[in-house]
Amino acid sequence: MDSDVRHVAVLGATGSIGRNALEVIAASQGRFRAAVLTAHSQVETLAELAAEFSPSRVVVTDPAAAERFPADRLPPGCQWTVGPDAVTEAVTDPEIDVVLAAIVGSAGLLGTLAAVEAGKTVALANKETLVLAGRQVMDLAGRRGTPIIPVDSEHSALFQALQAGRSDQVRRLVLTASGGPFRNHDAEQLAQATVADALAHPTWKMGDKITIDSATMMNKALEIIEARWLFGFPPEQIDVVIHPQSIVHSLVEYVDGSMIAQLSPPDMKLPIQYALSYPERYEGVAPRLDLTRAVELCFEPPDEERFPALALGREVASVGGSTGAVLNGANEAAVARFLAGELAFTDIVPACRRALDEHHFNPQPSLDELLELDRWARQEVARWVGT
Ligand code: NAD
Ligand code: MG
Repeated sequence: MDSDVRHVAVLGATGSIGRNALEVIAASQGRFRAAVLTAHSQVETLAELAAEFSPSRVVVTDPAAAERFPADRLPPGCQWTVGPDAVTEAVTDPEIDVVLAAIVGSAGLLGTLAAVEAGKTVALANKETLVLAGRQVMDLAGRRGTPIIPVDSEHSALFQALQAGRSDQVRRLVLTASGGPFRNHDAEQLAQATVADALAHPTWKMGDKITIDSATMMNKALEIIEARWLFGFPPEQIDVVIHPQSIVHSLVEYVDGSMIAQLSPPDMKLPIQYALSYPERYEGVAPRLDLTRAVELCFEPPDEERFPALALGREVASVGGSTGAVLNGANEAAVARFLAGELAFTDIVPACRRALDEHHFNPQPSLDELLELDRWARQEVARWVGT
């Protein structure tokens, strides 16, 4: 086996990040191989991807969906396993070099932790893992010497821009936000927002959960917390600016006033490829910015009144402890309720506020306590919605 090939476990292979990653891998001229693919319930798609990529193993995380899995269509020699524990087992296989954590939500935590524990390079898309258990994940990565390379476009940009100086020379990190589909909506229009309106993102094509998070701007709140854990800066040094074109993916401002930004069209293939190839770079399939055409770059401050989620992100990033698990669990539950037509768009962030206010704060929770708080927050949201 060629030791230059990086063997990648793609967790969440059927999702938006997973499919983009497979495009990157397919075009990598053998630099990367998809060695493990996991999916929750889209078993037909998983079988098709297995036929195309010939992984060593596929995992179906939903046991009910596994009953429908067409295992007879797997390529020769490809194993298949079932359930969440099969993910943790698959990522620790000696064959795996890089784990792309692209499962959505807190369901991605245990596979990511197992990869960190096993010392595999982690290409991290699953930001909820850091919101829920940032301290645990980063402490473990520190002890095990595990590299965590961000896939989230803003954090990939910051990771690149931070290479221009030392951390004591940084004045602040500036996360850019498109502002989502409701950037110019007033309070009344926001209250009427339908699921279809909220899913119509102006610049990015992503999975449903993160698309709703972008519309509430909870995505940016989660990204403040993600940046806090990935790069170790306090929330006072992490700002958010609205940039509707989604071309400047974030900036680092140094103490002398220099701002270093990373620019590219809004397409996840570039940050995914960079996370898989780091520290190397090569010509890939991501679209390029054409500077021979007029490129307009606008920036404006976010409206914190219409988008109260941002304040929650800063609060959780500064208070820490049990708050991240509660914010994340409540948000996941509220977004699922909104998508099911059971909760108004403008009730998502208040549900998170209420869960934060009503939980028993624990400054140093264990992992089990965090998982318990995640469950508690979801149950509270279900209770408020009345089901
Ligand atoms: P998606 O909904 O398109 O895909 C989610 C994937 O996770 C699917 O493969 C699905 O099978 C799997 N999955 C769902 N529930 C699961 C469960 N309970 N157990 C195991 N697997 C499960 O989501 P996405 O947009 O690809 O986002 C994935 C992650 O990447 C999220 O954490 C998101 O915040 C982050 N992210 C996404 C983008 C983007 O452009 N889509 C950008 C930045 C960060
Ligand atoms: Mg992002």
